[in-house]
Amino acid sequence: MDILKIVSRENFLQPSKPTKVIYWIGMLGLVGLIGALVYATGGTKTSVLHLFYVPIILAGFLFSIPAAMIMGIICGLILGPWMPADSITGEQQSYLSWIIRTLIFISIGSFSGFSSYIFKKYLREQTDKYSTDQALGLPNYKGLENIFKEYVEKYKLINVLVIDINNLKELETAMGAINLDTLLNKISNNIKSLMYSDVALGYVNNLGFVLFVPSSIDISKVVERYQKHLELSHVIDNIPIYIESFYGVASYPEDGGDLALILKKARITIEYCMKRFVQVGYYDPKFLDSASSNVMMLHELDKAIKSDALSIAYQPKINLITGELLSVEALTRWHHPELGNISPMEFIPLTERTLLINPFTKWMITRTLGDLKKFHNDGIKIKLAINFSMKNFMDPSVLDCLIEKTKEFDIQPRYIEIEVTESSVSADITEVSRILQAFQDLGFLIAIDDFGTGQASQQYLFELPINSIKIDQMFTRSLPDSKTGTAIVKSAIILGEQLGFEVVAEGIENPDQFDKLIELGCTVGQGFGIARPMPPSDLKKWYTKRSTEISKPVNTNKEEASSEKLHTSKKTV
Ligand code: C2E
Ligand code: MG
Ligand code: MG
Repeated sequence: MDILKIVSRENFLQPSKPTKVIYWIGMLGLVGLIGALVYATGGTKTSVLHLFYVPIILAGFLFSIPAAMIMGIICGLILGPWMPADSITGEQQSYLSWIIRTLIFISIGSFSGFSSYIFKKYLREQTDKYSTDQALGLPNYKGLENIFKEYVEKYKLINVLVIDINNLKELETAMGAINLDTLLNKISNNIKSLMYSDVALGYVNNLGFVLFVPSSIDISKVVERYQKHLELSHVIDNIPIYIESFYGVASYPEDGGDLALILKKARITIEYCMKRFVQVGYYDPKFLDSASSNVMMLHELDKAIKSDALSIAYQPKINLITGELLSVEALTRWHHPELGNISPMEFIPLTERTLLINPFTKWMITRTLGDLKKFHNDGIKIKLAINFSMKNFMDPSVLDCLIEKTKEFDIQPRYIEIEVTESSVSADITEVSRILQAFQDLGFLIAIDDFGTGQASQQYLFELPINSIKIDQMFTRSLPDSKTGTAIVKSAIILGEQLGFEVVAEGIENPDQFDKLIELGCTVGQGFGIARPMPPSDLKKWYTKRSTEISKPVNTNKEEASSEKLHTSKKTV
């Protein structure tokens, strides 16, 4: 059985066998009734005999040309020689008029059958068009819905596997729609070649390839087969393309009673997998919870931005040798009335996937520049570091906001550091470089955050306009013993010297790390061991206390001095 072609056709266009029998019985009954009526109303001379056209045309419409012709013959026979022309006087009809009438009935039957054939063919073509993905020739959502009904009836328990081809949008932008269709066709053929019999395949736009796998087939084996054998490298138009695939499985009836719900759950599973860099997932209700709580969180964040319910904590960055406060990094804090404290690690990545990141960053700019102005007015002439998301650079209004607010608060751009994470800058180096250069030209400072986590080769550093790099806290935390941590800090210092940028260590927590950093030549740092992020009102107190401490003569013994500073700063935390 060609499963791909299973589409339910049990409708008036193509009745099933039992329905056909019922139709025939009904029509023959009607023919008998009309015959009796003709006789009762006076024979073949009366115009009542024209009622016979009804069953003949109906037979042509419901069945086929031969069926309609047979019906014509049956009607002709009923009005045969035994039916008088006039039942009252007993006048007989001529054979000729009977034969001609029967021939007319047959031709009307064949005409009706032929018209109905053309009509049905047209309707079927339209239905197929409606239920088939035109580019791939596979059932689309509509088509799959029909197949699903049939599968439910036949197999009762079904696993629905969705194969997501990652980055289709980017591929389409890069290759164009026609080439994308060619690629999808190749993938589709590859999937078909790996098909099990009794598995149905379709393609749903914005979702991916959908397979219905009856529970009698081990779904994990099916997934394993695709994972192992699905061709990931393709050459289209001489361009080598590598695709990534994710697999999400949801089951009928366990995870939902209709196809839409099951596909939604398979999609949620894929998203859950993608976030965790796992290729395969089987739906679990906790995925839905996290997806709906994500939606809720975005809604709540939008409200929080509009009602100014977020706050900012500032974390000092100091010169490790002199203890001088150089700048503060602005970190958003969100205390939700019901959900409690929500970490930026939770809501920032989520926000970055939506356009909400732009109003959020604008809010951040306005609020932090206002605070910076106050710090400056209080005599704390420090710099301010703001974390930017890559998406912010695609929205000119965010960049305009930064420029506008700097002017409005009368702050020189050299007091503002734009922090972007390493993983995001390495994604589109040319474009990022152009944007960052424009900001640097205006006087803003550029910092690469979480250095060491994003890219195996740091070649890109040569292309970017950079004022500082911040070594990820993962490496600082591994000091003083870790070889990797030591190597990362060393290589950052060398790069900093060669390319003329500042090297900052993030996440300094204890004196041993502090001392090791100084030993390696890193002189700028930030971390809980120096100061935790604090509200703006606390910064002044911290600063005043610290200034009195660092105005004491600096200990000439480097080791002692560094540990001492860390310990004194700890007291202020
Ligand atoms: P980040 O920019 O690398 O910021 C440093 C994070 O490490 C902060 O976490 C800070 O509280 C934490 N941290 C600093 N010193 C130490 C330490 O010694 N030990 C430990 N364990 N942690 C330390 P936080 O505030 O939770 O922020 C996490 C990330 O969220 C930030 O990483 C940044 O990428 C992002 N983020 C925070 N606020 C914003 C914002 O307003 N906008 C954007 N786009 N991202 C933000
Ligand atoms: Mg940062
Ligand atoms: Mg960082």
